[in-house]
Amino acid sequence: MKLILAKWILTCDDEFSIIEDGGLVFSEQIIEVAKAEDLKLKYPGAELVQTKPDSVLLPGLINSHIHLEFLENNSKLRYGDFLRWLDSVMTHREELMEKLNDENLSKSLDFIAKTGTTSLGAISSYGFDLKACVASALNIVYFNEALGSKPEMVDTLFADLKARFENSRAFASSRFFPALAIHSPYSIHPILTKEVLKIAREENCAVSAHFCESEAELEWLEKSKGGFVSFFKKFLNQSKALIKPKEFLEQFKGLSKLSFTHCVQAGKEELEYIKELNASINHCPRSNRLLLSNKLNLAKLEGIDTSLGTDGLSSNFSLSLFDELRYSLFVHDEQDINTLAKDLLHFSTKNGAKALGLDNKGELKAGKDADFILCSLNGISKKEDLALQIILHTKFVKSSYILGEKIV
Ligand SMILES: [Zn+2]
Repeated sequence: MKLILAKWILTCDDEFSIIEDGGLVFSEQIIEVAKAEDLKLKYPGAELVQTKPDSVLLPGLINSHIHLEFLENNSKLRYGDFLRWLDSVMTHREELMEKLNDENLSKSLDFIAKTGTTSLGAISSYGFDLKACVASALNIVYFNEALGSKPEMVDTLFADLKARFENSRAFASSRFFPALAIHSPYSIHPILTKEVLKIAREENCAVSAHFCESEAELEWLEKSKGGFVSFFKKFLNQSKALIKPKEFLEQFKGLSKLSFTHCVQAGKEELEYIKELNASINHCPRSNRLLLSNKLNLAKLEGIDTSLGTDGLSSNFSLSLFDELRYSLFVHDEQDINTLAKDLLHFSTKNGAKALGLDNKGELKAGKDADFILCSLNGISKKEDLALQIILHTKFVKSSYILGEKIV
C-alpha cells in the first residue's frame, strides 16, 4: 500500500471536486482519496511516494479514438476537404503501412504515455499494431475494425475480421481489451455490420463506429448524391448508398459499451437516437478541423456523454491528448473558458472511460483502478483556475501510474 501526496488533487468526479493538500492511498486500486494529514494518521504503514510541493494529481487521460496504424503519415496526406483527404489515403495507404514497424509503434506509445494518456481506444484496420499494443504498459481497448461494402466480399471480409478478433482475444488481460469496430455507414455492407455486431453482443465487448463525419457522407447516405458519387464509382463501382443514417444507428441496439466518432453532421433525430442508445460521442476536434470545414456543436449534445480523441496521425499532427485539450479550448470559443476546461477534463477522463467500457477508470475515487498522472503547476492560488491552467501548461507529465504501477 502506498500514499502519494499532492498540493492539488483533481478527482474528476461528477462535481469536479478538488482537494487541496490531498493524498491518495493505493495498491492496484484506489483505497482512499482525502486530505493528506488525515491519510497520514489513518495509514501510518503506507509507503510514502515523495512529490514536489507544486504537484497536481489527476486521473490518467483516456484517448477514446486513435488509429496507430497511420502513424507514419507526415505531410503526405491532403487536408481541407474530406474527399480530397480520403482520395489521398487510398493513394498512399500501402506505402504508409509498409513503413510501419513495432519500433515506431512502441516509440509512439511511449510518447502517448509521457503526455499523460493511460488508456486508449485504438482502432485497428489490419492488425499490424497488435504486437506493440499487447506489449505496451498502457490500457488498450483494441477495436478490430470491419470495412467493405461489396456484397460479394462480405463472407471473406467477415472471416478476416473474425480471425483478427480471435487473434487479439488470445492476449486479453487486465490492460488489453479486445473489441470490435464498424468503419462507417458508407463503407460497410449492412450484412457485415449485422454479423460483426452479433459477435459483439455475444462477447459483450466495446463497439465503436465513425458516423456522420462529413457533409459528403450525409449527402451520399441520404440521397446517393454529392462528392461521394465519383469516389464510389472509381474505387467500388457502386452507385447507391446501402443504408440511411438512422437505419445504420438502429443496428447497434442493445450494445452497452458503444461509441460513435465525429458525428459533426448528425441531425437532431440521429442525436436523439444516439442518446436513446446510451452511446458516447468521440470528439476529435483537430481531425475535424483538418478534414472538414465544420466543427462539432457541443451545445447540441445535451444529455450525450462526449469523450475526446486525437484520431490518427492521418488526420492530426500529434498524439498528445493535452495538445487536443489545448486546441479544444480555443476552437469551442462560444463557451466560458473555465467551464469548458472542466468539461474537457471530464471528456478525457470519466467520459472516455464510459465510451470504452472501462467502468473502473476515469475518476479518483475509492474502489477505482489506481490510474493517475502527476503534473506540476507553481502559480496557482485559487482552485477554480486549476482545470484551465493544467490544460494550458502540461506538455509532459512528471509521472504516470496504471493499476498502481509506475509506468512513466
Ligand atoms: Zn477515426
